[in-house]
Amino acid sequence: MTRIEDLDQVLAFGEISEDLLFHKIEKYKVKDYILKSLEIGYEVADLYSVHDIFELYKINEIDIEYSQNNGNFYNVNFRAQFEWDKHNKSKVIIYKDSIKELANISGISEELSLKIHLCHEFFHYHELSNNTVVSEVLDPVVTVKFMNFKRKANISRCSEIAAHGFTKKILKLDCLPNFYDYKYLMNIGKIKDTYLDELADMYKNYCM
Ligand SMILES: [Zn+2]
Repeated sequence: MTRIEDLDQVLAFGEISEDLLFHKIEKYKVKDYILKSLEIGYEVADLYSVHDIFELYKINEIDIEYSQNNGNFYNVNFRAQFEWDKHNKSKVIIYKDSIKELANISGISEELSLKIHLCHEFFHYHELSNNTVVSEVLDPVVTVKFMNFKRKANISRCSEIAAHGFTKKILKLDCLPNFYDYKYLMNIGKIKDTYLDELADMYKNYCM
């Protein structure tokens, strides 16, 4: 395993560990969820990789709306939002100020920041239009167990990991793009500079 692949797994672990149902995943299965989600993301990228992301929006008739609003709602900062419409055109709203802020603070170009978000949302479009939502394709976890009764639920963050994998491959990035989110959070002081190392240490416990 090369270092870059290692980093990707750690970045994916960062994502899955924030799932509300993370504690319900059996420890030995965590890596499996990560690898399977990444693989789906990469495979889907192969289906579309002949096109540039802006072409993909045109071909699939997805509108891109650039909002002047800063994307701040109830203290949550949105950068892009996907509005799925089964019968009409779907739409992605891009919050330009937030896209720019991520770029400036994490040290990437505004163009790359925009493309990352367009790719990410396109992946969700693909999931919905093909009825193959990644978190629903992968095994659900058991959330309630009582005698013969079992309730199951999906690990929704698996879709996010796949979307990161898709974006990485389409844009030929060195690592999963949520790396820039972490850089952003480090640079604004929300997380420590050692956050990814700590995440890597934690992830080791799931790879035994
Ligand atoms: Zn997403």
